[in-house]
Amino acid sequence: MSDTALPHAPRKLRLATVSLAGCFGCHMSLLDIDERLFELVEHVEFDRSPLTDIKHVTHCDIGLVEGGLCNAENVQVLREFRAQCKTLVAVGACAITGGLPALRNPLDVGELLVDVYRERAGLASGSRVPDDPELPLPLNRVHPIHEVVHVDYFLPGCPPGADAFWQFLTDLMAGRTPRLAHGLIRYD
Ligand code: SF4
Repeated sequence: MSDTALPHAPRKLRLATVSLAGCFGCHMSLLDIDERLFELVEHVEFDRSPLTDIKHVTHCDIGLVEGGLCNAENVQVLREFRAQCKTLVAVGACAITGGLPALRNPLDVGELLVDVYRERAGLASGSRVPDDPELPLPLNRVHPIHEVVHVDYFLPGCPPGADAFWQFLTDLMAGRTPRLAHGLIRYD
């Protein structure tokens, strides 16, 4: 049995994941655990996730959140995750600090929209800022998720490596406080 091998729990844990203002790179890194996915699905059942295409989160043991908050829909989804997930994890730089999307924070979002949709060269005449009610309202700033909800754990990296995901998840699934060994914590 390897260091990270898990005893069989009496029931499978429910695991939800979501990408808010992120690039899905953290989800790709989770999938990079490769053949360990078979061991993962012996111990967890996926709930809402881009991996299942389930659209609404139900009561879960673990919620992994990729990405920060750039619009009103992100905030609503995050609050649902917090309400439904016993343990909530901020995964990756975007969830923890806002990451790359937060580079827009020094700029005025209204001016940006006008520039892109109305003033930029090459636009068709009559172009206007999209205002369909289906579109989520952008926030003035991109926020890390801990500014809106309580976060239980932070898994840093852009993205966190597959081995870091595996160590983190096996600790959580075994009921241990996650501890990443030297070399698994990264900030790039
Ligand atoms: Fe993508 Fe990096 Fe953000 Fe993860 S932390 S969503 S890999 S930009």
